[in-house]
Amino acid sequence: MTGTAAPAPFTADDYRARLARAARAAADAGLAGLLVAPGPDLVWLTGYTPTAATERLTLLVLAPGRDPVLVVPTLEAADAEKAPGAPALTLRDWTDGKDPYALTAALLDGSGRFGVSDNAWALHLLALQRTLPGTSYAALTEALPMLRAVKDAAELDRLAAAGAAADATFEEIRNVRFGGRREAEVAADLDRLLREHGHTVVDFTIVAAGPNGADPHHEAGDRVIADGDMVVLDFGGLLGGYGSDTSRTVHVGTPTDEERRVHDLVREAQEAGFRAVRPGVACQEVDRAARAVIERAGYGPYFIHRTGHGIGVTTHEPPYMIEGERQPLVPGMCFSVEPGIYLPGRFGVRVEDIVTVTEEGGRRLNDTERELVVVD
Ligand code: ZN
Ligand code: ZN
Ligand code: ZN
Repeated sequence: MTGTAAPAPFTADDYRARLARAARAAADAGLAGLLVAPGPDLVWLTGYTPTAATERLTLLVLAPGRDPVLVVPTLEAADAEKAPGAPALTLRDWTDGKDPYALTAALLDGSGRFGVSDNAWALHLLALQRTLPGTSYAALTEALPMLRAVKDAAELDRLAAAGAAADATFEEIRNVRFGGRREAEVAADLDRLLREHGHTVVDFTIVAAGPNGADPHHEAGDRVIADGDMVVLDFGGLLGGYGSDTSRTVHVGTPTDEERRVHDLVREAQEAGFRAVRPGVACQEVDRAARAVIERAGYGPYFIHRTGHGIGVTTHEPPYMIEGERQPLVPGMCFSVEPGIYLPGRFGVRVEDIVTVTEEGGRRLNDTERELVVVD
């Protein structure tokens, strides 16, 4: 069993380019700047993850036409200086007893509308609002939903490596024993295999057998998997800082005709969604293409979620493949295509690949067997 080699780290120049791109996007959107708290946006823009997001303010202040400034507590300044993007930033530290909001306010004009990362603490945002009454704020994914959506070649390489590792995990998990073991034991196998194949973070290992499969977010529990169970597997995490997320549904022993029919339908819907992917097509068309297959067969009410979500430095982010999303697809976007059918009290089926948009159409980053796999 071989682990996937970690890709080369991003350089300060990579982060400099992203910071410039974000500042441009903010200006184009009429924003006075971006305020970025610890989390995926900060990781993407600077490579910096503090040991913990805390009540002490850490905030990237990015205003068009000014040098990006990272406000950090003094006790974390040494760590922040080691971040790969630190050479692209000015660090401003503050010590306990000083007012970090006044320090932040001094970096801004004192008026205008700012984009704030979605996961900034209310504690910090409310204090900034008090300190800067002339400002207003918008959630970053609402103000700039596409900021991280179009991946460059180096990001696509990482996403492809994460996808390949998830595929290698499926190729091994399909050969383990399912019948007679608890869902949680198979989930532990998935966790171990993802790590063996290079993942540093495992975000989810869904193993949903029999009726549990009808709950799309059922994790893995004490149910002992039985002969005749459909089992939804949905697993992923981060490799080289980028996400994987794939689902396959397997069957313990010989499936019934109905189980085959429902699985074939989901498989066909997944294919239709994939085939709808090409530049210029609205995100909602991917959802419509997949959903139409399921609706035509009368299972529409049992497909109870959107068709897909973007993936990058997180495993759920814009763009969303959902009715009402008119954003056109752009080469470099990366997202899941994952229709499902969930029959309450009976079983569920989901088939999911990560897909990227190319000039010619969609390219899958997952490529394991999509027909119904029979396991022991
Ligand atoms: Zn069955
Ligand atoms: Zn998934
Ligand atoms: Zn997904």
